[in-house]
Amino acid sequence: MMCMYCKGKEFIESTTTHVVTYKNCLIVIKNVPCIECEQCGETFYSDEVAQILDKIVSAAKQPAQEISVIDYRQAA
Ligand SMILES: [Zn+2]
Repeated sequence: MMCMYCKGKEFIESTTTHVVTYKNCLIVIKNVPCIECEQCGETFYSDEVAQILDKIVSAAKQPAQEISVIDYRQAA
């Protein structure tokens, strides 16, 4: 794989905080596993993680709280 921003080819495994805004609500998911480009620091999710994130976000939207903070390791 190649970084879509800088075309770098070196990646490291990392974790990041995924933030989604939905209407007036903020959904924050901590400790999301990601792949980080060593060159520019841009982060990417694997398909599996992206799917799990979708589910977590959908669940957090109902009932939507003003701010939801979710730990990926507990929600996945
Ligand atoms: Zn990059």
